[in-house]
Amino acid sequence: MASITLNNLVKKYGDGFPAVNDISIDIADGEFIILVGPSGCGKSTLLRMIVGLEDITDGDLLIDGERVNDKAPRDRNLAMVFQNYALYPHLTVYENIAFPLRLAKGKHSEDQVNKLVTEAAATLELTDHLQRKPANLSGGQRQRVAMGRAIVRQADAFLFDEPLSNLDAKLRGQMRSEISQMQRRLGVTSVYVTHDQTEAMTLGDRVAVLKKGELQQIASPRELYEQP
Ligand code: ADP
Ligand code: ADP
Repeated sequence: MASITLNNLVKKYGDGFPAVNDISIDIADGEFIILVGPSGCGKSTLLRMIVGLEDITDGDLLIDGERVNDKAPRDRNLAMVFQNYALYPHLTVYENIAFPLRLAKGKHSEDQVNKLVTEAAATLELTDHLQRKPANLSGGQRQRVAMGRAIVRQADAFLFDEPLSNLDAKLRGQMRSEISQMQRRLGVTSVYVTHDQTEAMTLGDRVAVLKKGELQQIASPRELYEQP
């Protein structure tokens, strides 16, 4: 787990209007923060800057107080949870969860892999499904496998990029509570991008509202709800 500090972050693509314009947010260790706002307001760009998939034009990004602007994604120890889960259909649940360990620098022994995957599966209540393929899982179980991949890496934070946007309303509601329960259980720092008001108002500790690349407001869901 880690704190994430955004200090006056700016992103310009070419010489156009900044996609992210002077955004500062202190994300506490274990906090669940939502980035919300209309399409094109800069949510994905900001998330990609944090994970290291987008260069930072100006400002500083700190993880646990250390400046990481120039660090490669793999050296930031953050785990991205994608829309559609990005599971491998030909691999079992076990191998899907183990996948990041098999890629990692400094190979894990087979015993270590087994230990980490078994622990993650127990936390996620997937123990009985480890030999199944993704096609034979429910949407909720798939979401948990995707989170298992993040857990197994012992990442400092989870970054969610609209993970529920392609689901129907019923499944979305179910997944919302899965993610919420899991985040509380693990207490892991999380940044969650959405344009869905319900997700914004029910999932996070705080909601950051972006508009045209700027941070318009940041408050708890309750404060946002109660204001005139
Ligand atoms: P959101 O995730 O809130 O929909 P984005 O971060 O995707 O917003 O986009 C913010 C702004 O940056 C938009 O105006 C978008 O057109 C622009 N943008 C995003 N990615 C690129 C890119 N690779 N090249 C140029 N402009 C981009
Ligand atoms: P290189 O070009 O040196 O291979 P990359 O910048 O392509 O490095 O990143 C490779 C590693 O970074 C991956 O193995 C993974 O651990 C991590 N990584 C890349 N993208 C992401 C992401 N979206 N979320 C989390 N980690 C990522």
